[in-house]
Amino acid sequence: MNGALFLLTVNFLIAQLFCVFFLVISRRSRIPAAGRWFAVAFAVASLSAVFEVAIRYGDFDRFASFGAFSSLLIALVMIRIGIGRLYAVPSNIWATTTLLCTALPLNLMIFDLPRGTFVHSLGYQAPFAIAELMCAVAIYRSGRRETGDRILMALLLITAGNFASRVYFAVIFSGGSTAQAYLGSTYALVSQSISAVLVVSTGLTLLAVIVLEIMDDAKANSEIDPLSGLLNRRGFDGRVNQILARPVSAYPHCVIVCDLDHFKSVNDTYGHAAGDQVILAFGRMLAGHAPPEAICARFGGEEFAIFLPSTSMATGYLFAQGLRNTFSSMAISGLPDTVRLSASFGVCALAAPGDSIADAIKGADAALYDAKKGGRNRVNRAGASTANSPQEWQAQA
Ligand code: GH3
Ligand code: MG
Ligand code: MG
Repeated sequence: MNGALFLLTVNFLIAQLFCVFFLVISRRSRIPAAGRWFAVAFAVASLSAVFEVAIRYGDFDRFASFGAFSSLLIALVMIRIGIGRLYAVPSNIWATTTLLCTALPLNLMIFDLPRGTFVHSLGYQAPFAIAELMCAVAIYRSGRRETGDRILMALLLITAGNFASRVYFAVIFSGGSTAQAYLGSTYALVSQSISAVLVVSTGLTLLAVIVLEIMDDAKANSEIDPLSGLLNRRGFDGRVNQILARPVSAYPHCVIVCDLDHFKSVNDTYGHAAGDQVILAFGRMLAGHAPPEAICARFGGEEFAIFLPSTSMATGYLFAQGLRNTFSSMAISGLPDTVRLSASFGVCALAAPGDSIADAIKGADAALYDAKKGGRNRVNRAGASTANSPQEWQAQA
């Protein structure tokens, strides 16, 4: 087995392996179609190696040469479709059809031209370069610029450049005037080695992009409460600590903890599903009223929290009063029209750098506990006991 044949075998096996990897990984992906297109593309691309071996050992030169060319070009078009799915940049059907309808008949026409001529090389390599370029442009147009996206774009551009440069090198080194002579040449060995490296790098990067997307989704899901759609405690702590870690964080910040009143009796009277509707309605109200920079979370059960960055205790208190008012006058779907519920709130501030969110939540929890003790449907501030602060009562109106 000579070098070029060995490389073709390796290329074939690598392409088949990628096909399996993409099939397995696509099942976990949010966009399984993208991974499936890549899997089929690699399966089709692997045929190109089979055709090239057929050129070497068979008598059906023209058919095999066309097969090697078309399987690679079709695979690249499929990669473009997969990238379109992954990056939400659908492929242009006219551009794709024009490329295939021009390149495939052209390949049959140039077969009889001697290899190593400019016209033959251009007709053979240009369609590949164009297809790779279309893939790179799709990623560019998606606007996504994560490291993986940039690497992928760079690899696709380099591969397009590699195909384009072959036009020149094929003429300079004149690989051989027939398909068979070409395959036995040193030029073919070098050119196939470079292609193998580029194909493996592109395949790995595509896999990495899909795996990273799956990991991002898993992380996001692990931080979201499925019932209310708000963050859960983990997501809340993560976002808040990001804000607190900023080099310039404008203190004070404010945290509000709230708990629905007599929620158990809602479940007992109207059923658990109705109780879920209440949690959903309260979560929506929080998200709808909170300023864009606020961080809203459901801590569990019927307990919620809101972090208001760069907000004083007084402003946080007024905001909580607004929420209390809105909720206590709100009709909730799933409950009789006349039924109104209420919630109690505890407010605490992080006054200066060094104040932890855990301590602020403890303070807000203590204030909430006081609000419950004081009769519910009220807002209490940390450090101001219900019994000792008549102004808290006046603000209940
Ligand atoms: P309080 O005014 O003192 O807060 O009284 P409460 O009844 O609201 O509080 P309690 O802690 O006694 O009951 C909370 C209830 O919330 C008990 C539990 O079954 C219910 N619960 C917790 N999670 C969910 C949920 O996801 N859906 C529903 N429907 N109920 C839940
Ligand atoms: Mg409760
Ligand atoms: Mg509770």
